[in-house]
Amino acid sequence: MDKRWPDWPPKPNISYTGRKKFSECMRSWFFQYYNSMIPDEDLKARIFQQSKLMPTEALAGKVVDDTITFALFHLKHKGMLPERLDEIAMKILTEYGKFTLRWKRAIMDGRRIYDNNLQPVDRLFFDEPYTPEEKSVLKDKIRLCMANFVNSDVLEEIRSYPVESWKIPPQKECKPLPDALMREIDPLFETPSDFPAIPWFQMQDIPIYASYDFMVVNPDFAMIIDWKTGDKNRGWTFAVEQLHYYAAYVLEEYHVPPENISLQAVWLSQNAEKQIIFLNSDQLSQMKLRWEQDYKRFMQLLSDLRYGGDWRKQFPITETPYVCMRCPFRACEGYGRKSDVNLDGSLSNANEESLE
Ligand code: SF4
Repeated sequence: MDKRWPDWPPKPNISYTGRKKFSECMRSWFFQYYNSMIPDEDLKARIFQQSKLMPTEALAGKVVDDTITFALFHLKHKGMLPERLDEIAMKILTEYGKFTLRWKRAIMDGRRIYDNNLQPVDRLFFDEPYTPEEKSVLKDKIRLCMANFVNSDVLEEIRSYPVESWKIPPQKECKPLPDALMREIDPLFETPSDFPAIPWFQMQDIPIYASYDFMVVNPDFAMIIDWKTGDKNRGWTFAVEQLHYYAAYVLEEYHVPPENISLQAVWLSQNAEKQIIFLNSDQLSQMKLRWEQDYKRFMQLLSDLRYGGDWRKQFPITETPYVCMRCPFRACEGYGRKSDVNLDGSLSNANEESLE
């Protein structure tokens, strides 16, 4: 047996995002998490790069989530919200644009750069700048979400709990803003060399990731909040499932009685409407069963591949080309079905377009 087994291939894990990706397109799941197993070196390198890209559809949500996390961090440590949250959000948005260009230039120079808070945006990487109208729509949405957050009942509710019970994801507690913005606030700020792991727990031997947005937890009560920038009508069933992951984490890590766990999806673009979801033990049990089944399946697929399987057959492209429209893996043959795009993701024309 190969000495690297079972560390190679890497052990699969279970996460809401990973399982959703797998159900939408097995190829994209493989590309995202196991691209190191692609035998073709050139394709492997391109897919690795593309696995770091953030789909443009996720950008508004990411900026809003980052800004709220910083706002709550500030409130927790300084006792007040930072001023002009909308301006901070715009700065964070701009940082995503700047980072994408730095990241791309670094690749062209054969280097790699990293910022724990940022990801390159796929459109900018592929030289598809935002039009002024698109930028305006994006910024309006972010501003609306931030204004609704500041005026929301949820913020008032959070403030009513002692800050010691607030849980900001540990990696964000360590550095809540991108490097450049942290230094603007604190010129002496030094980036931590070690970041805490993303929240996770183990069910039997299965690692489950639970990357929550914000929680209030004390020994006998927990309130788990997920900030949403999308449309409630289209997103609420997904929100229910996602919040149950975090509930499983809280049950496992903090042993809070299940009947005292409050799950809340907050629809920021819709007046910060709060959707309270009751923890459903049956649903959680069924989810755990599905996690076990999926984990076995993931293990089997990766193991088969390790012992001579054909990755193209094992991880077929999606039968729903719509999924490809918002997929960052443009080096994938599936993306070719979107006929009017530049397929090679050329690095040759780094443009100066940003999100300012
Ligand atoms: S381009 Fe389409 S088929 Fe290829 S990985 Fe992405 S979603 Fe899957």
